[in-house]
Amino acid sequence: MIRRLLALVCILALLCPAALARQDAYVEPCQVLPGESALVRYFLPATTTAQLSVTTENGLEVLQVLTPRLLLGGLHELKLDETFFDSLQEGSYLLVLTCEGVSVSAALTIGSLSEDDAQEGIKASDENFIDENNTEEAAPAAAAASDEPITPAHLSAYRPQHENCYWCTPMDITDEAAVWAMLIAPVTVVDLKQKEQLVLRAEPDNSSEGVGVITGQSQAVHVLEERSDGWVLVETYSSSFHDSRVKNWNAFVTGYVQKDKLKTVTPRTDYAMIVDKLTQRLYIFADGKLLTELLASTGLANERQPYNETRSGEFLIVSRVGDFKSDNLICRMGLRFNSGDLLHEVPHVLNADGTRSYKSCEPKLGQRASHGCIRIQRRQNADGINMYWIWNNIKTGTKLVVWEDYAGRQIPLPDDSTPLYYNPDGGSYYHSTDMCPGIRDAYLPLAGTFTYGQLENSAYASLTMCPNCIPPLRKAEIARINEIHLTQSPGVIQ
Ligand SMILES: [Zn+2]
Ligand SMILES: [Zn+2]
Repeated sequence: MIRRLLALVCILALLCPAALARQDAYVEPCQVLPGESALVRYFLPATTTAQLSVTTENGLEVLQVLTPRLLLGGLHELKLDETFFDSLQEGSYLLVLTCEGVSVSAALTIGSLSEDDAQEGIKASDENFIDENNTEEAAPAAAAASDEPITPAHLSAYRPQHENCYWCTPMDITDEAAVWAMLIAPVTVVDLKQKEQLVLRAEPDNSSEGVGVITGQSQAVHVLEERSDGWVLVETYSSSFHDSRVKNWNAFVTGYVQKDKLKTVTPRTDYAMIVDKLTQRLYIFADGKLLTELLASTGLANERQPYNETRSGEFLIVSRVGDFKSDNLICRMGLRFNSGDLLHEVPHVLNADGTRSYKSCEPKLGQRASHGCIRIQRRQNADGINMYWIWNNIKTGTKLVVWEDYAGRQIPLPDDSTPLYYNPDGGSYYHSTDMCPGIRDAYLPLAGTFTYGQLENSAYASLTMCPNCIPPLRKAEIARINEIHLTQSPGVIQ
């Protein structure tokens, strides 16, 4: 039937030259069969804010597929789990794609309908395929795929509601009060040496299967239940390294540990840090407020080295390792937070004349790149902060949490009025401050000013993000990252 509908769509497009010329947005008809996932295909002529919902044939919204968000131009394929449409009865509906005040729609059939009903579906599609008049207000959403706040314990079967708990607090950097309360709350760690690991058990019994490993002193667990037999049910991300006893790479695991192995530690309250895999940035909090942010690179896993993925979770900085070598790379100012995982300056190689070259690793900041350590920018940002500042100000006992970039998490778009700066005298970067520490004094303050909303104008189209003062990413780059995270969890290793 899909093929017949597609043929119909092609014929329609041929009969309608206006549609061809404008390359309008469209959504393709879709049939959802019991026990099968559904493929929704839609096209956007350009990167734009759009939404996709399911309505009755009378236009009453019954389900949101995509809440309004920035989406890339081009053909999209969205795979939806069979349970996604569970709230709807079998029958004929419409898939409605709305962008820039214009809606287009196509038939959505749930279940296998009789031949008559299927014909109805085609008719509905036919009438609604390009319908620019359908700009009615959408009804309130019955459900939205991504509106539920996503916490680090997102995959948990348990849903406790602890206050100020890393595992129970949504991964939302804009809620500074909630984030700070979480960052200074006490943690429960395993009382072993810093590079020792404890095996988490499937049953309250030391001979039962190991489901994951926890690193001593630094890695926190989420306490779910204390039992009268001396065992505690906990959950955490398994800190599996290549030589760990349980190889369950960065997996979110639930299991048992003996209570006498656990202890509670209160972290420092001057500073605390968050590394977000979604944005690949480090956020430093001071005295309850977001102080600043820096570009980071977390681990990049591959098939042969799945253990390169940085282990997420709640940690304490436990020791100052300093400079170390990794093959030919020199990593300065290492701070240990999880056995072999350290926070350190972006690596460099030594040139023959003794100077440092950052050329190989620095351009990768802002993306996954390491073997599991977290690389931090060495250039001073707009607040004069870099890894050197961290080394001088962050003490052992400071909390560092790593947020997993689960599917459904999205980077919010910056406000169009956000001010940006550039050097009209031949500068190639756009900046977040007119006093960028990366620019020679002779050009400061930067004379060129514009706004984030104007960044796509032709005058600024060739400017790239300054690696010092790290202004917001371009809209297309945010859309590219968000597109991946609509359906994928890049850090979840299968
Ligand atoms: Zn909790
Ligand atoms: Zn700059």
